[in-house]
Amino acid sequence: MRQSTFLVPTLRDIPSGADVISHQLMLRSGMIRQSAAGVYSFLPLGWKVLRKVEEIVREEMDLSGAQEMFMPSIQPSELWKDSGRWEAYGPELMRVTDRHSREFALGPTHEEVITSIVRDDVRSYKELPMTLYQIQTKFRDERRPRFGVLRGREFLMKDAYSFDLDFAGLDKSYQQMYDAYTKIFTRLNLNFRAVVADSGAMGGKDTHEFMVLSDVGEDTIAYSDESNFAANIEIAPVNVSYEKTNEEFQEMKEVETPDQRTIEEVSSFFETSPSKCIKSLLFIVDEKPVLLLVRGDHEANDIKLKHELDAESVELATSEQTQQIIGVSQGFVGPVHVPYEVQVYADPAVKSIVNGICGANTEKKHFINVNTERDFHVTAYADLRNIQEGDPSPDGKGKILFKEGIEVGHVFKLGTKYSEALGAQYLNDQGKAKPIVMGSYGVGVSRTVAAVIEEHHDDNGIVWPACVSPFDIHLIAINVKQSEQKKLAEMLYKQFQNDGYDVLYDDRPERAGVKFKDADLIGIPLRVQIGKRASENIVEVKDRKTGNVEELYIDDLSAFVK
Ligand code: ATP
Ligand code: MG
Ligand code: MG
Ligand code: MG
Repeated sequence: MRQSTFLVPTLRDIPSGADVISHQLMLRSGMIRQSAAGVYSFLPLGWKVLRKVEEIVREEMDLSGAQEMFMPSIQPSELWKDSGRWEAYGPELMRVTDRHSREFALGPTHEEVITSIVRDDVRSYKELPMTLYQIQTKFRDERRPRFGVLRGREFLMKDAYSFDLDFAGLDKSYQQMYDAYTKIFTRLNLNFRAVVADSGAMGGKDTHEFMVLSDVGEDTIAYSDESNFAANIEIAPVNVSYEKTNEEFQEMKEVETPDQRTIEEVSSFFETSPSKCIKSLLFIVDEKPVLLLVRGDHEANDIKLKHELDAESVELATSEQTQQIIGVSQGFVGPVHVPYEVQVYADPAVKSIVNGICGANTEKKHFINVNTERDFHVTAYADLRNIQEGDPSPDGKGKILFKEGIEVGHVFKLGTKYSEALGAQYLNDQGKAKPIVMGSYGVGVSRTVAAVIEEHHDDNGIVWPACVSPFDIHLIAINVKQSEQKKLAEMLYKQFQNDGYDVLYDDRPERAGVKFKDADLIGIPLRVQIGKRASENIVEVKDRKTGNVEELYIDDLSAFVK
């Protein structure tokens, strides 16, 4: 590409209103221009980078076995009403009305559309599991669009959706996406952590955000200096991961000694248990196990209890109920998979707890007092809202540190929320209809471009990692009025192209200072400069990152230009 005719309008000064480095550099290097608040055009240079990021995401999605497709941005309101999100999404959902007064949403995400497609076209258990994805423009009327493409109102997202027969299948699909995301952000040279996040809003189970550590991040991550523990502090509950595999769990069953406790005994247990202790009760309600995890804390006076049926969430227990029943000062509960037949014990007092919490009739159902460490594979939860730097990590390993993060990706176990709302079922091997178990997985492709710049720049401009650089080589004829220089530059330009390199060739009749400043700003890792020694077939090779310059005979160039 000849720079003389390439639309790359660089700016010397920092544009007003651009508060973060990536926004400044994307404007100054001529990558983007704003049309309206949070709405941007990607100019040719920015578009090339965006496509590079997109390609890395696509490659890893394809490798994971996901299938690419493409869905409409314009989505009928009926689908959103069926899922309940026409109301729940609030003003962030952009709405349009057609000439027949029919209402539509401009897709901020695609759970509704994809679920309706799978509902209509997938019938049998034999067709599952599958994961589908697209890379597409999303619309969200953000309350505060800012920081350029970091928080846009129109932005590019990769969104994937998994469809499984059951929760064990979902666990697998989720892990595949988690692994693919880890590869994507590693390939992009980003310093990131996968952090445990809040599953509240979307009504799901496990969820992780992929956070690039950066001072301009809008989220705060609490992480341990000695373990893998990392969580978004805005959320509660937060995963502290007790580990017991389902297989181990099965073995445990053999040695299990179930007990029957009265409500008084349960209460007194909680009153005397150490503050970090998590205790659990397992109930069977409507033939499904319900696990209640309670964490006791003497000092605190707030109570939060949440419980879930094995697969589907049920209404939250209220504080009052909990207090009444358990009488503990603080507690919370996390969802778990309970993969085994429980033994049967009937204690009227505990039965009334189940009735109180679940509002379900447990007359012939049964419960057991189970032990977290001993009996099941559990993802337990801790409340981080009041955590301070220096506090012990909830997993007991190391101390908590804080760091800001940019959310570049998010993986989410949806469960059956959307499949039930929209009626997406499959027939199992006995011909029985079952709700499909779903996950959803997003990468902010345009946001990721900005995140890469936040991490890879210096005082003079962007320093692209090679994998997302807009060009392989920046070829600069320092003085095009010098015929020797011009001739050699033209020759190398052709040669590089013939060798398959993508070259930005600065053939402009500008001063050397201007060219170097622009080149630093644009940030292509490898620069080949043709100057005074052109007549000797000697050029300069400059490494954008280190600033190292080396003189080379053109015959030796190939070793440098890989
Ligand atoms: P945020 O917390 O930053 O508002 P989100 O949690 O609402 O993001 P998700 O619904 O999880 O976003 O969407 C998946 C991904 O899309 C996010 O992880 C993020 O990378 C990207 N994304 C979300 N909102 C925006 C936005 N306004 N501009 C650019 N990218 C966005
Ligand atoms: Mg958001
Ligand atoms: Mg978020
Ligand atoms: Mg998110």
